[in-house]
Amino acid sequence: MHSKNKKAMTAAERAHVERVKSLPCSVCDQGHESEAHEMKQGQWYTSAALCSDCHRGPINGWHGQKRMWAVMKMDELDALAVTLERLFEG
Ligand SMILES: [Zn+2]
Ligand SMILES: [Zn+2]
Repeated sequence: MHSKNKKAMTAAERAHVERVKSLPCSVCDQGHESEAHEMKQGQWYTSAALCSDCHRGPINGWHGQKRMWAVMKMDELDALAVTLERLFEG
């Protein structure tokens, strides 16, 4: 199953994303209600748990100037690794 086209989320994908969103931010460790950042649109298993600031913040966020990411010396794959580690070890 490697559909490249955007399709409706499966039940398993939805459950995975809900688990991701229950984790603290993978970059700054804040909070318990994170957002799921999909590294590749429609590929839900590439989702990292990010707080709203590290996700969409204009200064700190991945979709902004990425300042927090620079401070923490992290990129998307580092955040994904933290998310997966917490999912599988949590
Ligand atoms: Zn954060
Ligand atoms: Zn995002």
